Amino acid sequence: MTLTIGTATAKRGEIVYGEYLLVQHPVGGADSLPVIIAQGKEDGPVFWITAGIHGIEHAGIQVIHKLITPELVKQIRGTIVAIPTLNPAGLRTLERQAYYHNGDPNRLFPDGRTPKFDPDKTPPSALEQAYARLFEEIKRSASFYFDLHCMGGNALSFIFRDRLLYRKGDEAARKRAEVVSAQMDEMARAYGHTMSADFAVNKYIDEKLNRATTASVSMLAGIPALTAELSISYTPAPEVVYAAMAGLRNVMRWGGMLDGDMEPITGIKVVDPGYATRRRSVARVTQACMVHHLKEPGDLVQVGDPLVEMRDAWGRVLGVLTSEYDGFVISRPAGILFYPGEATVLLAIRDDEPLVGEYPETYFD
Ligand SMILES: [Zn+2]
Repeated sequence: MTLTIGTATAKRGEIVYGEYLLVQHPVGGADSLPVIIAQGKEDGPVFWITAGIHGIEHAGIQVIHKLITPELVKQIRGTIVAIPTLNPAGLRTLERQAYYHNGDPNRLFPDGRTPKFDPDKTPPSALEQAYARLFEEIKRSASFYFDLHCMGGNALSFIFRDRLLYRKGDEAARKRAEVVSAQMDEMARAYGHTMSADFAVNKYIDEKLNRATTASVSMLAGIPALTAELSISYTPAPEVVYAAMAGLRNVMRWGGMLDGDMEPITGIKVVDPGYATRRRSVARVTQACMVHHLKEPGDLVQVGDPLVEMRDAWGRVLGVLTSEYDGFVISRPAGILFYPGEATVLLAIRDDEPLVGEYPETYFD
């Protein structure tokens, strides 16, 4: 299989390394993405794995470094294309964002809309244009795709499963979305970590989450794609790194790239409440306070269960916030200080929204 990404060209039975030009600097030099192509001796699917689009999320980088070994290449059919860091500027400066694009870099993949020229608006940034090129590389070559992230301190290791949207009346697009959605569920089950859908459809569009890497690839290219959140940012937890490597090898088994039994996922909490879930930020404090969490990531909760205590600076209890939902705790924001209205817990709550649905009526206007 001939496959070239940037300066890396696949070779049967080998791991090749190269670079993909991302952004040229005004002062000379450029940011390039490190590219790894690992190809087995036999034909098979092309599995894209990327990480590090947020510069503080480092676990996925280590997962790619450790996953791709000469031993693995001897065993696989098909090809792994891996990019350990999609945002070299953010990684270098230890920021979520790249300093040459003001905004979340994981909201820059194509959205399917026709660009409109507006002389009063800045055109797409160099980074947005670079990601549009990279999207085309993924679309051209990928059979399935994982993008690796971190959620933050003490969060579960889990999958965010995107919703798939199609244009009203486009029956072929609806059918394709149903097929891709079913493949994404299978892939998430093979990965074996906790799974939750992202926000409900309207919030999803508000947050531009349809322009996240995996959402854009699954919706616009029809390639099954999942976002894996690997617990803590910055210095990774080794047990999460190893559990993600086992999960990705299981995805290769699901995809027919690797033989052998599915590996058990060990060393991390895996939660299955027995019903579909989506994320919601909850337990919003009613006054300025410090909180003491009463539930940990992975804990199942029911309506009425106490989630956090609000205390003043001296430690006197101001009140207790209880859960309005059944679900489980995904993560807690960093720190214990909160201003009124801020959420103190990220919960996975029961999901009654469709996983495949229509774009909002005015989306393409
Ligand atoms: Zn991220």
